[in-house]
Amino acid sequence: MAASEAVPYAKTGGLADVVTALAMELSALGHRVTLLLPGYRGQATQNARREVMRFSILVMQTKTEVTVEEELVPVTEASHPLRVFLVRYDPYFDRPGIYQEDHHDYPDNLDRFTLFCRAVLHVLRALTEVQGEAVDLLHLHDWQTALCSVYLKALPGEYKELHTIKTLLTIHNLGYQGIFAAEEFGKTGLPPSLFSPSALEYYGSINCLKGGIICADAVSTVSPTYAKEIITAEYGCGLEGVLSSRIDGILGITNGIDTKVWDPARDFYLPARYTAANLAGKQVCKRALQEEFGLPNREVPVLGVVGRLTFQKGFDLLLEIIAELMSLELQIVFLGTGDYDLEQQFKAVQQKYAEKIGLHIGFDERLAHRVEAGADMLLMPSRYEPCGLSQLYSLRYGTVPIVRRTGGLADTVVPFRPSTVESKSATGFYFTDASSDALLSTIMLALRVYKEYETWNLMIKAGMSEDLSWRRSAQQYAGIYRAMAEK
Ligand code: ADP
Repeated sequence: MAASEAVPYAKTGGLADVVTALAMELSALGHRVTLLLPGYRGQATQNARREVMRFSILVMQTKTEVTVEEELVPVTEASHPLRVFLVRYDPYFDRPGIYQEDHHDYPDNLDRFTLFCRAVLHVLRALTEVQGEAVDLLHLHDWQTALCSVYLKALPGEYKELHTIKTLLTIHNLGYQGIFAAEEFGKTGLPPSLFSPSALEYYGSINCLKGGIICADAVSTVSPTYAKEIITAEYGCGLEGVLSSRIDGILGITNGIDTKVWDPARDFYLPARYTAANLAGKQVCKRALQEEFGLPNREVPVLGVVGRLTFQKGFDLLLEIIAELMSLELQIVFLGTGDYDLEQQFKAVQQKYAEKIGLHIGFDERLAHRVEAGADMLLMPSRYEPCGLSQLYSLRYGTVPIVRRTGGLADTVVPFRPSTVESKSATGFYFTDASSDALLSTIMLALRVYKEYETWNLMIKAGMSEDLSWRRSAQQYAGIYRAMAEK
């Protein structure tokens, strides 16, 4: 498995959680998994690390010296550890950021991730050739690793030892495609003929994800609804044509969560722990959250927000209705970082309504746990959401999600309706239009239901008792791997 981020090594979003949890769960199911990651700055873990490979890769006639370090991560229930390879090339990866700094992408991201892709294939070749390991499948994640499948198809002579390896490309977010200027194509080391609309060219630029979608043996994404959405013009981000031209279709597997890390009964980030049977600790978490965000300890519903502040997440819709919300009995806590403009707007509303809005701009894992636990409701008004993890965490923490009905949000939240209340299956609220009006009326509905103590409690319990673990999803991936290997 190759990815550009994975916890605890590097994280900017859900991808990092997914990659590690899936790799661990597959190991627990008995598969031998090796995870390849760039060796970024500051990745110290408790595992011993040793250098296992050193080689050079020719990029634009220049030899680039790469080293590979290995960590063996113990997996409970598994006879083999998860093997992690960190691909080090310090001029590219020993930096303060993963993809960007000060809100600007690194200008050499194409150089960085083509080098990583080539190093991944080099490592696989060494494993096959020198160590005699049989590698069946390479699971790629997002544009940063998509080019691996292109190299395997386009340069079969260079990678002849790997000709039996199948590639699965999982798209975690179609909004990020790895688009670069045409003049940079030489850096990929691919034949110039591949810079064409039937391969990597996309309206005159290079598109790494497009190349992967065309060359991978199978393509999947992280929820069934998103798999259907991305072949439409509304959600396809310009790649709907390429995606729908894959005759085998796009597979959709909903992410699970790491139920050991995200467990309100054992979470040591929380000031108190709790279960569905005894929610007293959740009240302690709520009061602590109010204090931590500088809000008065009042018996009002607390709405939580955890996420990247980007257009995708629809938090601007919340800003549009902030005056209306502030006239209601509630408090809002925001934890997020992202677009500079949105950050400034959130700072401004927080200053205006300091009695009711708590704000933390930044990335803070501990605080994310505390918001998930201490809030009564979690807001995710996403314009699109491939799967979404925050709402899964909120379900597990008894924090009722209010989401837009899109992608994985539509697949994982059972909306409040007479029938779902009757069957005790309702776990949250959703709205369809990506509009602030729709968001406001859904929040108002949730606030009304919040006052119906019994119904609210049933919703909390329905969410907390769902099986959100990785087991089922990992088994589905294993099924795909098997089907691909047999083809
Ligand atoms: P995405 O991958 O699009 O960012 P997801 O909901 O799939 O959205 O995953 C977001 C992950 O990142 C969750 O684990 C969430 O807790 C975490 N996260 C997002 N923003 C922050 C933040 N500011 N501080 C801490 N964790 C955050």
